[in-house]
Amino acid sequence: MVLNLYDTMTREVRKVFPMDENLVRFYACGPTVYGPAHIGNFRTFVMQDVFRRVLETSGQKTLHVRNLTDVDDKTIRQSQEQGVKLKDFTDKWTARFQKDCEFLNLLTPHAEPSAVEHIPEQISLIERLIEGGNAYRANDGSVYFKVDAFPEYGRLSRLADREITTSATDRETADEYERDTAADFVLWKVRRPEDGENFWESPWGQGRPGWHIECSAMSMKVLGDSFDLHSGGVDLIFPHHENEIAQSECATGKTFARHWFHIAHLMVEGKKMSKSLGNLHTLEDLFELGYSAQEVRYVLLSGSYRQPLNFTFDSMKASRKAMSKLRDFATKFNFIPTTGNNLETEFGPFQPVQDALLSDLSTPEALGRCFSLVRELSEAYERGEYEGRPEAVSEVCRGFQATCDAFGLAVEPKKVDIEEIPADIENLAQKRWNAKLSKDWAMADQLRNELLELGWVVKDGKEKFELTRSSE
Ligand code: AMP
Ligand code: ZN
Repeated sequence: MVLNLYDTMTREVRKVFPMDENLVRFYACGPTVYGPAHIGNFRTFVMQDVFRRVLETSGQKTLHVRNLTDVDDKTIRQSQEQGVKLKDFTDKWTARFQKDCEFLNLLTPHAEPSAVEHIPEQISLIERLIEGGNAYRANDGSVYFKVDAFPEYGRLSRLADREITTSATDRETADEYERDTAADFVLWKVRRPEDGENFWESPWGQGRPGWHIECSAMSMKVLGDSFDLHSGGVDLIFPHHENEIAQSECATGKTFARHWFHIAHLMVEGKKMSKSLGNLHTLEDLFELGYSAQEVRYVLLSGSYRQPLNFTFDSMKASRKAMSKLRDFATKFNFIPTTGNNLETEFGPFQPVQDALLSDLSTPEALGRCFSLVRELSEAYERGEYEGRPEAVSEVCRGFQATCDAFGLAVEPKKVDIEEIPADIENLAQKRWNAKLSKDWAMADQLRNELLELGWVVKDGKEKFELTRSSE
């Protein structure tokens, strides 16, 4: 089973095939830990998570690296403004980010390197670039990458088609810039008074790394000079990823990443959701409005990663309904979710869902197919087609589990409040439990069937039983 995915570099949907058999090594640019991540950021992280889940549920192993950007213009500026040490400041936002990831059911990356912890690797990469004639120290004391030294510069973002200007005298010192110019960009920033105590020793004096070199150094440290795939939101195509390619390929002479996976933005009323525009929602904001993390995750999955997705509260309401339908289905089939990350999962009747995901991670199509199947299987259940066929019920449940695993949605069957359970049902269930304890299996089975006929499913825990409605 192969995943086909759009590649920004070749502008084609291509197979994701690992260099090392059966291990897909990929790098995702991580959060800049200077405040709470917004759900726009999480659109990108959720799609990267689905990418990994789709590979894993189709039997591929992955090596997932996502860095923490804990030193850059923004983290330094904000920590200075708040009078807090950079490390204390970024630790706080890193912890918050990791908590949000947990709420959203994001699989933990296999490595989460931090930029501050990889300063020596960044310095040695810059040294290699200077030795190779690809970087130089300018009069201002900072070190810059010489864009002219890399003729391929601009291939990823198709700069040539955008009639850009290239000027050897143009230099860019900011971490983020939007100009469509192939300006020499900074690798090592000479210490400035506004950096406070945030500087490191280097062969070029005290200073700090530029943002772009951080990702090159961390990705190559963990994944090697060449790896299978690199990912981020579309805003990172230029200049960040363009610069990463230039630095890395000049230093190693090898192809840096073999596939480029970019996720379109989450928008609010036609504008990108971003901190600077002040139109962002965090997970916490949505919790306060009574939404759950699963509902947020569902909304983020509802659009194709190749198109911008407009966030609305109507879509949050639709997501609530959709999640409720999945829970009804789980209740009907007495689905007991299992945790853990299963390789080579069986989709069974849900195979069309996996097929849609393997076809360019088409989450809207996959969700559509999932709901058609949920409806068809529920109707078959209502018609009694699953009566006396426990193996067929298990097959449906296994397929549903695989589907939930691939989407990363945690679907729990609906629980019925104790007071809603009629006393005679409760008594019957208690009788069955007692029969089970005294190992009277025939009686226990008979009572289970009686309960089923009355519309109740009994599920045994270690110390007690639980009753749920078999249909609603
Ligand atoms: P940052 O924390 O700003 O470095 O961004 C973390 C990730 O979120 C990057 O991959 C960005 O490209 C991505 N990102 C930022 N804004 C959005 C948005 N509105 N929609 C989707 N992804 C975004
Ligand atoms: Zn990056």
